[in-house]
Amino acid sequence: MENKKQFETEAIRTQIERTTFLEHSSPMYLTSSFVFEDAEDMRASFAEEKDRNVYSRYSNPNSSEFIEKVCKMEDAEDGFAFASGMAAVFSTFAALLESGDHIVSAKSIFGSTHSLFTQFFPKWNIETSYFDINDLQSVESLITPKTKIIYAESPTNPGVDVLDMEVLGNIAKKHKVLLVIDNCFATPYLQQPIKFGADLVIHSGTKLMDGQGRVLAGITVGNSELIDRIYRFSRITGPALSPFNAWVLSKSLETLGVRVDRHCENAMKLATFLENHEKVRWVKYPFLKSHPNHEIAKKQMTAGGCVVAFEINGGLEAGRKFFDSIKLLSLSANLGDSRSIVTHPASTTHSKLSKQDREAVGITDGMVRVSVGLEHIDDIVDDINQALS
Ligand SMILES: *Cc1c(COP(=O)(O)O)cnc(C)c1O
Repeated sequence: MENKKQFETEAIRTQIERTTFLEHSSPMYLTSSFVFEDAEDMRASFAEEKDRNVYSRYSNPNSSEFIEKVCKMEDAEDGFAFASGMAAVFSTFAALLESGDHIVSAKSIFGSTHSLFTQFFPKWNIETSYFDINDLQSVESLITPKTKIIYAESPTNPGVDVLDMEVLGNIAKKHKVLLVIDNCFATPYLQQPIKFGADLVIHSGTKLMDGQGRVLAGITVGNSELIDRIYRFSRITGPALSPFNAWVLSKSLETLGVRVDRHCENAMKLATFLENHEKVRWVKYPFLKSHPNHEIAKKQMTAGGCVVAFEINGGLEAGRKFFDSIKLLSLSANLGDSRSIVTHPASTTHSKLSKQDREAVGITDGMVRVSVGLEHIDDIVDDINQALS
């Protein structure tokens, strides 16, 4: 077996086979289907006696390269790539669950995932119970004989709370249920959930993996038998990633390490600045000592990620003024972009929740979420400082 190389090296050197042109960088395979040598080749390929590309809904060289890279990064056996992060979330659950099954999920999860659990799964008789991420003791009491999956994100969106994945991993093992982690906020560069007991890891490739706000993508990696079931479901239902987006993403992953290093350095500087600002009530960033789960963050992650949350003194009104005064940073819903982005979760992504439900997941009216980008940190700090004053 080949020696496993360091993260950055695998990110750059994992590459599909060269063509006869001996290109240096991987080409884009914009083809919906692949041809057969003869009748026997065609028969054997369809019978899956051969491991080869047949149709890009099933597999494509660019997707395969992207999947292989992420598998190496997450130390996973296998994976499948999707058109978006939500396609990955939906297809993973849909492939593995039956009518009557039960999910135990963290309360603070991505908004669309929450809507999937509350608005759509109940019509297929799949129910979800929720736990508070600061009370992992309660998880066991929610597990029933119908429970198949424990689901969580860490750090969470938008509250940047951190939960102890090892504790969840042990509970999952003890009760023989699967642990599925959405690792989008940390990326495999900062944290690998499989080490802590996750069976499957999901990413929205749209965020830090692309890192430049260009393409939508998703991926699920982990145990190969589970991935095979997800693959069987997905090759029929058609949520596959486009080869173009796969090519963009595989290129992006070559620079994931250096980009995420700078995101984290900038975010830490901004968080430290905000912690000492008189107009700011509180700041949350996993690598600040004041973060309630700082010790767990240090155990699981090598740095704090790109998202900083803080609350402006003065609630909703002060919040609105702050957003109207921002000049350089973008008001946008994305995160993990080279451009810094500020959002107001209470009036945008989480506006459909009641104030009480928002506060239960740590979203106060004056809370601002910053996705710290790659501009010079002095300019990021200056813009936020002038908007605060
Ligand atoms: C954005 C996001 C998703 C969904 O990804 P899309 O690519 O937008 O479909 C899922 N989970 C988390 C944590 C996210 O931030």
